[in-house]
Amino acid sequence: MDFHRRLLSCTSLRSSRTLHALLLISGQSADILLATDLLNLYSRLGDLPAAALSFNQIPKQNIFSYNSMISSFVRHGFLTDAFLCFHRLLAVPNLRPDSFTFPVALKCCTSLEDIKKMHSLVKRSGFGTDLFVSSSLISGYSKFGSVEYAEKVFDEMPLRDSGCWNAMVSGLCQSGRDDYAVQVFNQMVQVEACVDKVTISCILPVYASLNDLLMGMSVHVYSIKHGLDSDIFVSNALIDMYSKLCCLEDARHIFDSMECRDLVTWNTMITAYEQFGDSTVVLEFFGLMKRNGLKPDILTLVSLSSAVSQIQHEGNCRAVHGFFVRRGWDEDDIFAGNAIIDMYGKMNKVKYCQDVFDRMHVRDVISWNTLITSYSQNGLANEAIEVYENMGRYEGLKPVQGTFASILPACSHIGALRKGAQIHGQTIKAGLHFDVFVGTCLIDMYAKCGKLVDAMALFVGMPISSSGPWNAIIAGHGSHGQGKKALELFSEMQREGVNPDHVTFVSLLSAFSHAGLVQLGKEYFQLMKSRYGIEPMVKHYACIVDLLGRAGHLDEAYKLIQNMPLKPDAGVWGAFLASCRIHGNVELGRLASTWLFEIDHENVGYYVLLSNLYARGGEWKGVNEVRSLAKQRSLLKTPGWSSIEVNNKVNVFFTGNQSHPQYEEMYKELVILLAKMKNIGYIPDYSFVLQDVEDDEKEHILASHSERLAIAFGIISTKPKSTLYIFKNLRVCGDCHNATKYISRVTEREIVVRDSNRFHHFKEGNCSCGDYW
Ligand SMILES: [Zn+2]
Ligand SMILES: [Zn+2]
Repeated sequence: MDFHRRLLSCTSLRSSRTLHALLLISGQSADILLATDLLNLYSRLGDLPAAALSFNQIPKQNIFSYNSMISSFVRHGFLTDAFLCFHRLLAVPNLRPDSFTFPVALKCCTSLEDIKKMHSLVKRSGFGTDLFVSSSLISGYSKFGSVEYAEKVFDEMPLRDSGCWNAMVSGLCQSGRDDYAVQVFNQMVQVEACVDKVTISCILPVYASLNDLLMGMSVHVYSIKHGLDSDIFVSNALIDMYSKLCCLEDARHIFDSMECRDLVTWNTMITAYEQFGDSTVVLEFFGLMKRNGLKPDILTLVSLSSAVSQIQHEGNCRAVHGFFVRRGWDEDDIFAGNAIIDMYGKMNKVKYCQDVFDRMHVRDVISWNTLITSYSQNGLANEAIEVYENMGRYEGLKPVQGTFASILPACSHIGALRKGAQIHGQTIKAGLHFDVFVGTCLIDMYAKCGKLVDAMALFVGMPISSSGPWNAIIAGHGSHGQGKKALELFSEMQREGVNPDHVTFVSLLSAFSHAGLVQLGKEYFQLMKSRYGIEPMVKHYACIVDLLGRAGHLDEAYKLIQNMPLKPDAGVWGAFLASCRIHGNVELGRLASTWLFEIDHENVGYYVLLSNLYARGGEWKGVNEVRSLAKQRSLLKTPGWSSIEVNNKVNVFFTGNQSHPQYEEMYKELVILLAKMKNIGYIPDYSFVLQDVEDDEKEHILASHSERLAIAFGIISTKPKSTLYIFKNLRVCGDCHNATKYISRVTEREIVVRDSNRFHHFKEGNCSCGDYW
């Protein structure tokens, strides 16, 4: 019986055990060659203990059996055992490691020190110039970020093969030394060293990250010339490069022309479409992939989870979650768990986020960040802050850039200025306050909490070479009604050599709108494309419709909407409807609402606007219609809330909510206020009440709008005449706006209200917005 051949061709553990038994019976188990074959077989089939046993049963192990054993340990991830085995080998008299031992032994080094020790052993053993060993040394040094040592080994080599070149290029890529990697690659082409598929698939991601399409394409051409482009590794790397450089069509072309594709190919393509926001194609590809007999892995599902949350398809979300659960990945794999939390967060299912988070066996800082973001983006800012605090308290995790970028918007959202300032302190401690993302969030937080001066002070001290901080500070001035200052900042931005992007123009155009600067707005809307080469998006159209509409140019605004190259969304129609209300244009308002109720029929704000518009035009039939429509659809989707920070605690009030411990006191205060306000001329405007009830009740409903509760709470819990800062999630209603003006008079307080749109500074019976909001 030819054991050697049988051992090599065996493919199942069962038959390998049979072979093992036969070997023992035949008395050939002590044969060192056959015993090593057996060891390799067990290792290949995944039974490492059996492999180790076979090794130990060899009476006198030679270098081949040692090499096999050490690589088995490495292959299965048992680096310490591999290392011990290597040292056992060193202790055997007359046995020396060879050029196969060192590359494997280098793989089980766990520190730079280990590598250095191994290097000197390599030299002492006379393998210092061996190609295979040297390549492994280069990879080893690179793995621990020591490019200098890697380079030294590389330079000292009298002769180089493609393996060493590749080790050098990929080592540099791994260490993030992209420019240097390109240099070495060019050198390689110059000296006509063998550029192979490994080199190409190493260098392509570098050109993608350097954003160098031209060089990427030239590598593509090179691979075609040398017949490497049909290789699956190369094709996958090409798809990846083209998609990262936004050439999705080229990526697709390569995909289509491939003869065989593996999981990496499919995943790369799926990820590309997901990143491009083309979720429908992602689902198509996923279906195709399965029909082609490939099983999705974690990477596929992570892309898929992002795609299904983009199209907001709940059924698909559950299906993706099911996929993860059936494989146990939701609990065991951090990457998968985080993706599911993110998916449910985007689907507004925060409860599921918390459930998935709680069930994860291991969590990392990204899991916490994702949970914070999920709460924050769903308006549950206090909950987000609580999670943020628990993160340090229970798991001792230090916040990182992403943590601050998740928690600061939560503070902005509810106007938690004190908390925000505390977190500002923590960013300094973490050395991240000058980080451009964190800095931008801080500027945004101060501006949104009403502290424009602090935002500006922070902005001035920051390195401002990217658009983020500029966009935040321009938007900040805009929401405070300072359009001219916003424009000054915009000009300064360009003097500093920072290019405006599409976010800059949203900030700028809405700044013009809040300040009523119509001419400037129109001018920059044109310039945006002609001078800055930025194609207007739906958001920009919403800004310009808002700007024209508020200023009373309703016809012009309507014409613009009709001629839009993009489909107008709820933002565009909402801005238009609000303008129709200000200017009492019932006809156009009705038209806008027809569209709005089709696109976003759950937003209570639009019904209120329309009802008020009808009431002002004396169309009571219309008012009744809107009310019954609103009733039918039981609008509970976005409850109105307002918040106020008192004594470092954020109090959130929902409309009509009576559960606050100090509600009695607040209610008394509201009654007194109402009497005083009526004395100086306040008349409640019932058209802002959607419920069909008696006038008394309507007055009561208006007086329990969330911002009034917050104001009442502010009055009873702060010093007389001090300024109140109120934050509201929706647009402030017309009656509350009017009432707040009166309240500022009777209480002699400044009241700052930030609604979903802008800041209102109420003082002595007037508002900074000039009643256009
Ligand atoms: Zn109101
Ligand atoms: Zn106002």
